[in-house]
Amino acid sequence: MIIAIDGPAAAGKGTIARKLASHLRFHYLDTGSLYRAVAVTMLSKGLDPADVQAAARTADNLQPDSIPDALLRSAEAGEAASIVAAIPEVRASLLKFQRDFAQKSPGTVLDGRDIGTVVCPDAPVKIFVTASAAERARRRHKELVEAGSDIDLATVLADIERRDERDSNRSSAPLVAAADAHLLDTSKLDIEGAFQAAIDIVNSHLS
Ligand code: C5P
Repeated sequence: MIIAIDGPAAAGKGTIARKLASHLRFHYLDTGSLYRAVAVTMLSKGLDPADVQAAARTADNLQPDSIPDALLRSAEAGEAASIVAAIPEVRASLLKFQRDFAQKSPGTVLDGRDIGTVVCPDAPVKIFVTASAAERARRRHKELVEAGSDIDLATVLADIERRDERDSNRSSAPLVAAADAHLLDTSKLDIEGAFQAAIDIVNSHLS
């Protein structure tokens, strides 16, 4: 059983996916961390994330587990990740790992931008998690400040809007809800409310 969770930055999909996986005792893969890992590896070597050949080579040789979480979660890593993620060669290189992971038993939850459309188009449960840009910026800002950053809210909102634009308009696997995805708007929901809504969707497929 595969559960595909997609949506824009900071909509709450990571939290929902992690909680679903733990509740169901399924394996969980945060696919954004793969793109972030490619980006961080390139930045640490002084490479330009828009360099197609260097990005493809980095994705082919990726060692995601060796990168500290704090580096992966930074605003700079998110921005550079969306640049490498627009490169088709990078997406192709990361596809097999994601598809292999999705087959793990007894089941998996994957979150990202193209899980329901490209990585696992046959997933029986697809959820597209959204929230207003203002609410997503507020949440991401709080997260970054709690992690020690002094970034201001307006900068976070501008970053989110630029990333939405890039992720939605790229030609390779753009951010879009699969036709058979359930839409889950978390703008007015707290974590428990969003998780409960997601569980209800999953249960509707199990019964
Ligand atoms: O989800 P997260 O913010 O960690 O993702 C970072 C970036 O990685 C996104 O802005 C997006 O460009 C890219 N990404 C993607 N496809 C995925 C997961 C993430 O293009 N499945």
